[in-house]
Amino acid sequence: MKEDCIFCKILQGKIPSQIIFKDEKVTVFKDVNPIAPIHYLIVPNQHIDSLNDVTIGDELSLGHIFTVARQLADKEGIKDGYRLVMNTGVDAGQTVLHLHMHLLGGKPLTAKFS
Ligand code: 5GP
Ligand code: ZN
Repeated sequence: MKEDCIFCKILQGKIPSQIIFKDEKVTVFKDVNPIAPIHYLIVPNQHIDSLNDVTIGDELSLGHIFTVARQLADKEGIKDGYRLVMNTGVDAGQTVLHLHMHLLGGKPLTAKFS
């Protein structure tokens, strides 16, 4: 955990959030500013700033993020179309320096990249 990290505070329950799922590796909560009907953030429980800081030791929890995303897409009934986004670094618009994957769905996602 990192003292000044907003997502670490959410994981510790110090900041309220709508938690969707939690296990020993990841936590999933609703994005506070959703851009789609389904907009979840899948977050490793261990603090990692961004993909730039990932090491081999993180492979299990990173791989698990994809399995959890797939399970949630199934549960939410959006398997016909959903998007996983991991903004990395300032130029990609990463605003929270705790690695996370956005799960977006529930509407047609037209703009592929921007
Ligand atoms: P990024 O821009 O780093 O890829 O994504 C960060 C996301 O975290 C944004 O979509 C933003 O709406 C969300 N976010 C920022 N602060 C909070 C918060 O306190 N609670 C929740 N649930 N989401 C947050
Ligand atoms: Zn953190």
